[in-house]
Amino acid sequence: MTENDLRDSLINASRRERTALALPADFDTLDWENLDFLGWRDAKLPAVGYVVGACEGGPVGIMLREVDSKARSRPQCSWCEDVLLPNDVVYFNARRAGKAGRNGNTVGTLACSHFECSANARRLPPLPYPGFDLESGRQRRIVGLRGNFASFVRKVRDDG
Ligand SMILES: [Zn+2]
Repeated sequence: MTENDLRDSLINASRRERTALALPADFDTLDWENLDFLGWRDAKLPAVGYVVGACEGGPVGIMLREVDSKARSRPQCSWCEDVLLPNDVVYFNARRAGKAGRNGNTVGTLACSHFECSANARRLPPLPYPGFDLESGRQRRIVGLRGNFASFVRKVRDDG
């Protein structure tokens, strides 16, 4: 994926926002194999983050804005659903694509503040009982993360 592919993939950002976007610092050395989606915070715009996932018809990217919500303590990420809470989880708002977004319509989600979800899902879970199949537990979590992320993308994308 090139820098331009990445900018062009954003479905809910203006041309100006796409041009202004700061690429992830490690863009050239990203470990695509072990990413369910690419996510990073904008180095120049502290409240802004981006997630890009592989979808039918090519990559789809979404620009997110962290909302300062005095939420419940220690919320859980809606994407990786990690129960060990290894990192901060914050509330993000995404402008919806197309006309809905231009009318001010947004989709909110709780997510890991620096999009640590792929790493979280791959960490072996604690052994719930002797003989539990840890590897299949991990596979289920990866599948769950991909499903949760895809349904978020659908909500942002739907401009009906
Ligand atoms: Zn997460």
